[in-house]
Amino acid sequence: MHPTFNFEHSYLTLPEKLYTRIAPQKSAAPEMLLFNEALADRLGIGYAESSDEELAAVFAGNVLPEGTGTDHPDASPLAQAYAGHQFGHFTILGDGRAVLLGEQITPDGKRFDIQLKGSGRTPYSRGGDGRATLSSVLREYLISECMHALGIPCSRSLAVALTGETVMRDRPHPGAVLTRVTESHLRAGTFEFARQMLTEKDLSDLLDYAIRRHYPQLEERPEKALAFLEAVSRQQINLICHWMRTGFIHGVMNTDNMHIAGISFDFGPCAFMNAYHPRTVFSSIDHAGRYAFGKQAGIGQWNLGVLAGALLPLIDKDSDTAVEKARSVLNRYPAEFSEAWLRTLSGKIGIAQPDEEAKSLGENLLSHMQEARADYTNTFRWLMGHADAKDEAPYNTTPFTEWRAAWEKRIAREEGGHEAAAALMQKQNPKIIPRNHLVEEALSAAEERENFTLFTELIEAVGHAYDDTPADPRFTLPPPEGDADYRTFCGT
Ligand code: AMP
Ligand code: MG
Repeated sequence: MHPTFNFEHSYLTLPEKLYTRIAPQKSAAPEMLLFNEALADRLGIGYAESSDEELAAVFAGNVLPEGTGTDHPDASPLAQAYAGHQFGHFTILGDGRAVLLGEQITPDGKRFDIQLKGSGRTPYSRGGDGRATLSSVLREYLISECMHALGIPCSRSLAVALTGETVMRDRPHPGAVLTRVTESHLRAGTFEFARQMLTEKDLSDLLDYAIRRHYPQLEERPEKALAFLEAVSRQQINLICHWMRTGFIHGVMNTDNMHIAGISFDFGPCAFMNAYHPRTVFSSIDHAGRYAFGKQAGIGQWNLGVLAGALLPLIDKDSDTAVEKARSVLNRYPAEFSEAWLRTLSGKIGIAQPDEEAKSLGENLLSHMQEARADYTNTFRWLMGHADAKDEAPYNTTPFTEWRAAWEKRIAREEGGHEAAAALMQKQNPKIIPRNHLVEEALSAAEERENFTLFTELIEAVGHAYDDTPADPRFTLPPPEGDADYRTFCGT
């Protein structure tokens, strides 16, 4: 029996120009490679009586899954239209290699998009082949599951199916389809598309839909569009603080990759930083460092500005007033971001109530780390007194020992002292992140030798990132030679 879903199709209630109904393209020889049973269980997908062939047929896009009854119909696949600012330039886009099968309603009543990525050409494919390489699909699977384990809001990965076809990139690659799961695929770029290509009524319908789906508390608000912009801003700040807390660099923060509910997704060339430096960039296409680690907060604001531009006619009938109102939200972003980041950084050094002293302690620590090229993750572990940091050399220097003495004094004055600080730091500072060299090693073993041992171990280890148990040093050390030459690729 093919796996069963509990689908709804609310996206089909939106103006028709926002999507194209299209079935996934069939693959030559589907084969199941990965299936995330824990996630399938949470989603309420029925797969107990499905053979691997039946799973592969659905997750490679060859068979459209059936629903569970009249209230929950069969899959009704569609590709979404959107636009976006890519590296600052406006473009009309859309799902060029993905289709949404439907929205799965979970046993606890939540709604998740079930999307096949790499499932063939759509009207939005432009020159692309609509396909995805196995390496890009495995990378997204591994990173998304690790990010989830680290407590970062992000899309999830349900399945990887091989297509049995070859995808031509720099060289021939095996083709694969990823099943991506997320609360929706509403992007800042979806609003840009509606503003540019559709009527004001359509834009307003899209806003109502987005509010119903992600911010139902705003439904009765008089100034809905403005309240929406404020809410998106808050979620965006929250998300980027999570990225900065864990050393994550998204790599391609184009507005089409900015989710309106503050969820990380479309993280093609992303990576986690080892040695701390705010200018760290790994993406091979980000020559100017637009999306460097330390630029992410500012880009968040830039992207919100684009979203605000798209929402203007809904913010106020009078365009000058609309601009003024939007600007008041955008102008608050820097202070709100700084406050949220200060809370995060203070938490990382065990201070629950941020103040000026916490701020300078946090910033000084970062500047010592930058100077010494110290490992971002392990510096906070050193602070927590964990020997798993191993490479202690930078911390035996005067800047760090003096800093530590000042910090100890502060912690002694904190309510709850060291114990409370330790508990707080435990929650903020992962002992394990998916280190770039391990990600690459896991991916090449999986892709070239069909060996998923490290791939699985890494997800499992990151799953215990905040446990109060000693970490396996295999997962905690940065590569001895550093990673200044590490490059990530969009890998479509
Ligand atoms: P991404 O870099 O994944 O955010 O994609 C940017 C845009 O390019 C989106 O509209 C994708 O649908 C499209 N795209 C990426 N790869 C392909 C491909 N192989 N075939 C068709 N469209 C693609
Ligand atoms: Mg994208």
